Amino acid sequence: MSEIIKIAYLYEDLMNTYGDSGDVKILSFLLKEQGYDTQVDNISLDMDFNAFDYDFLFFGGGQDFEQSVVATDLQRHRQTIKDYIEADKPMLCICGGYQFLGKYYQTSGGETIQCLDILPLHTVFKADSRMIGDTEYKTEWGTVKAFENHSGRTYFDDKKMLKPFGTMIQGYGNNPDEKQEGMRYKNVIGSYSHGPILKNENVARAIADKIVQAHKERLATTNNK
Ligand code: GLN
Repeated sequence: MSEIIKIAYLYEDLMNTYGDSGDVKILSFLLKEQGYDTQVDNISLDMDFNAFDYDFLFFGGGQDFEQSVVATDLQRHRQTIKDYIEADKPMLCICGGYQFLGKYYQTSGGETIQCLDILPLHTVFKADSRMIGDTEYKTEWGTVKAFENHSGRTYFDDKKMLKPFGTMIQGYGNNPDEKQEGMRYKNVIGSYSHGPILKNENVARAIADKIVQAHKERLATTNNK
């Protein structure tokens, strides 16, 4: 029987814009190639959640309304997500999910959604110029092609701690000013790329390898108890 890799999809029913669930499907396919089955749990409103039960966390994009609903529930999980990230475990956050890692998101209605405040970044909505279209950018793993659709502009509050995921060739990425796409911190990637982003096999394989490593570490910890 093959081993089971456990993936938590945070608020899958609410945070899933422009094909983001495809990211998890692509990872499941690549992990199957390596001999692993995957179990994907939708961690939705009011559910219990311990990040350390999982080998990978995925947080997809969402529109402002869904984000405001998720925000009412999310703070309960702040500590376990923070500890998981600090323990070098892998996580991929897209668009709204990426924005949630930061301090706050100022919405179209002028309302401020308190985010997890795990990483030093913040996002401000600008209604007059939605960033929409194809993107292309360079990353550590090569060129990535994707699609973006957001009005939130994300800025880092600590540029030593957070590194951009990529440098723009086409499109906007984090904001119209800096020509940078997404964020990296430890084994967390935040990105505005939909499409899904992991149709870019270079990035998908790099993340799949991190997941296998995290899985082996989790099993070793469990077996030593
Ligand atoms: N509502 C957010 C924005 O417009 C996120 C959009 C998304 O996740 N696609 O910036």
